[in-house]
Amino acid sequence: MTETMHVPIERTEQLVAPPQPAAQESDDEPPDPSPCMAGAPALARTKPAGRVVPFPAHRAGTISPAVKSFRKRHFPSVPSKLWNEWQWQTSHRIRTLSQLESMISLSAEERGAFSQSQRSLPLGITPYYMGLISPDDPQQPLRRSVIPTVHETVHAAGEADDPLGEETQSPVAGLVHRYPDRVLLLVTDFCSTYCRYCTRSRVVGRGAIHPSRNRLEQAFAYIAQTPAIRDVLISGGDPLMIGEEKLSWILSRLRQIPHVEIVRIGTKAPAVLPQRITPRLVRMLRQFHPLWMSLHFTHPDECTPEAYRACAMLADAGIPLGSQTVLLKGINDSVETMRRLVHHLLKMRVRPYYLYQCDPISGSAHFRAPIAKGLEIIRGLRGFTSGYAVPTYVVDAPGGGGKIPLMPDCVVGRKNDALLLRNYENGVYRYPESCNVPPA
Ligand code: SF4
Repeated sequence: MTETMHVPIERTEQLVAPPQPAAQESDDEPPDPSPCMAGAPALARTKPAGRVVPFPAHRAGTISPAVKSFRKRHFPSVPSKLWNEWQWQTSHRIRTLSQLESMISLSAEERGAFSQSQRSLPLGITPYYMGLISPDDPQQPLRRSVIPTVHETVHAAGEADDPLGEETQSPVAGLVHRYPDRVLLLVTDFCSTYCRYCTRSRVVGRGAIHPSRNRLEQAFAYIAQTPAIRDVLISGGDPLMIGEEKLSWILSRLRQIPHVEIVRIGTKAPAVLPQRITPRLVRMLRQFHPLWMSLHFTHPDECTPEAYRACAMLADAGIPLGSQTVLLKGINDSVETMRRLVHHLLKMRVRPYYLYQCDPISGSAHFRAPIAKGLEIIRGLRGFTSGYAVPTYVVDAPGGGGKIPLMPDCVVGRKNDALLLRNYENGVYRYPESCNVPPA
């Protein structure tokens, strides 16, 4: 394999290809005109493009100002080399009340979470992500998504520890087989940063799911014996918390199964631990194409220069990137916030893939926005921005029914032979659709 990635830690500008001389552009032209171009007017020779101006996002600083000043305040003696190591970030996670208290001023609701024995999901925040958190605003979206509050100890009606019924659809420990042609393989329960709304909070951070060979071999055997499985989603926890060697072994074991066509990895690393996306990781991952990645971005404030750089490295390695976002009350439940997020994602070459209605996990009532809000957001995006920017809004059906897409009502009715359709501006248009189409 030819190695082409040379990405320095702190200079994203170099990710942009240097301007090429005009003469070289003609080398990329096809040698002969295509037959379908015969008779077409000759293309005017384009003028040399001049210097390529990199997209502003690439020219932005490589370190978020907030993270920079946080580091100066709380880790002044840590050199850049260490700060940019994912292992250092992981081993210096903020995990205790006293660490939190030394960095932010806690509200009564936040402090109260630490006196409740029912709080099940541990605390874990990378120093990098902590740098993005407001020290004095408990309502700041990123803060709400990772700092526990007493509300998560309140169990509302309809909530469950395993609302999606994953345990009942698990033929082998850590493998969920819900849909006919794909499986979810949980490789670890560890995350560098724990989201307070995590669907798998019943297991993550509890040390129950290890990437042990023995367990994983049972999962591989199940997949190998089930030819219908053509797609494996590796998730957790965060699979990128596993070292390159083990991860490479998992990927190569899956690649040895002939009917596994694609492998996907679900991760929040680019948002909470962008330092994890290293040249070494990317070199390893690109050996296993077709490999896709489902990233997890929640709010536009996560789209920092560091996150841009991490996504650029993955995209440059040919890994198609999608983002899954959970709709969260008071965090991202507005058209304006979601629009800013999806526009950032497109610039990061990440396709907004799903917008999830928050699952009714135990203690999540304070995060759940009404479905009408999700529909309002989709209505506010569709037509008003690029189609690529509009995610599919889904409810993961409680009990294991799978994802059910929800769309604003666009079919208004029928008039004679026409279907009446509503457009994004609320105008109603007729689409001729005869029921008596003559045979061809
Ligand atoms: S990164 Fe994913 S698995 Fe980990 S806590 Fe967040 S939602 Fe859960």
